[in-house]
Amino acid sequence: MEPHWDVLIAGGGPAGYSAALYCARAGLRTLVLEQLSAGGQIALTTQVDNYPGFPEGIDGFELGQRMRQGAERFGARTQLAEVTALELNRPLKTVHTSAGVFQGRAVIVATGANPRRLGLPKEQALTGRGVSYCAACDGMFYRGKTVAVVGGGSTAAADALLLSRLCKKVILIHRRDTLRAASIEHQALLEAPNVEFRWNTTVIQFLGSDRLLGLRLRDLLSGAEAELPCDGVFLCIGRVPATALLQGQLELDSAGYLIADETTRTSIPGVFAAGDVRTKALRQAVTAAADGAVAAHYAEEYLRGAQ
Ligand SMILES: Cc1cc2nc3c(=O)[nH]c(=O)nc-3n(C[C@H](O)[C@H](O)[C@H](O)COP(=O)(O)OP(=O)(O)OC[C@H]3O[C@@H](n4cnc5c(N)ncnc54)[C@H](O)[C@@H]3O)c2cc1C
Repeated sequence: MEPHWDVLIAGGGPAGYSAALYCARAGLRTLVLEQLSAGGQIALTTQVDNYPGFPEGIDGFELGQRMRQGAERFGARTQLAEVTALELNRPLKTVHTSAGVFQGRAVIVATGANPRRLGLPKEQALTGRGVSYCAACDGMFYRGKTVAVVGGGSTAAADALLLSRLCKKVILIHRRDTLRAASIEHQALLEAPNVEFRWNTTVIQFLGSDRLLGLRLRDLLSGAEAELPCDGVFLCIGRVPATALLQGQLELDSAGYLIADETTRTSIPGVFAAGDVRTKALRQAVTAAADGAVAAHYAEEYLRGAQ
């Protein structure tokens, strides 16, 4: 693969391929560096119902492949490789990967953020089969059913509230005795007739083999264990942004997200952050794709100025 590019894009999820599509259509020589396969996290789900343009929904893997094809139709290229180091401070930026070294005049970081996992056996196998990490993504699949939400932060509270409007019953499981969530959500949850709380409680096992049938819980004060039958569980225990390689180079917030506003500009000129990896309110495929377009716009503007 040619080593010199106008724009290097780290990450081939919705943000990366949207950026690639816009860059390529702007006539920029664009290379996407992706360590696994196109689509990023959206490729992990079999049914995406909230990406516009697909009235019947679409398989997430297929959506990722289509995003890649769309960008490559206009000349963007993909190198399947892990990005291992970035040197961003000079005008010509250098990206080291498992497939060699590439240089670009601008870099778009679109490496995403992975949901934090409980790390219990069967968690991966049951993901999409009762185990979920996102109420906005999967809540509708549990309409009229009983679900558990694990976590005590503002995402857990917001997801539990959203689910309380869709589901028959929501059981919020938290290892402490109070929520860290903002009081407005806390109060709304306390008032919701179909929300129950299990304080000082942790999940120790997922029940079911092909599909989640329930949870085994442990009371952290008494040590007592009990089974909780449920149709789904939403694990809202945080995300881990893929920014380890950028520490010390770009400004990160306390949770490790790249600090960038709606322009996607980072603390280094010519370096942009798009999608789940950046500080933002809603982490979804459609907002990631929107970021990619914005990043391409500002990368193009930056490169025009740099000429
Ligand atoms: C199970 C699940 C279901 C979901 N369902 C929905 C849904 O129904 N609707 C919805 O809108 N959203 C859904 N989401 C959220 C959605 O997938 C994300 O918001 C979206 O994918 C973010 O896009 P992104 O491009 O910013 O990051 P990602 O999709 O995370 O893509 C980042 C890419 O960067 C790559 N990468 C990371 N580090 C490196 C490196 N060092 N070198 C090379 N490549 C690297 C990764 O392999 C990945 O492909 C779901 C998420 C999950 C986990």
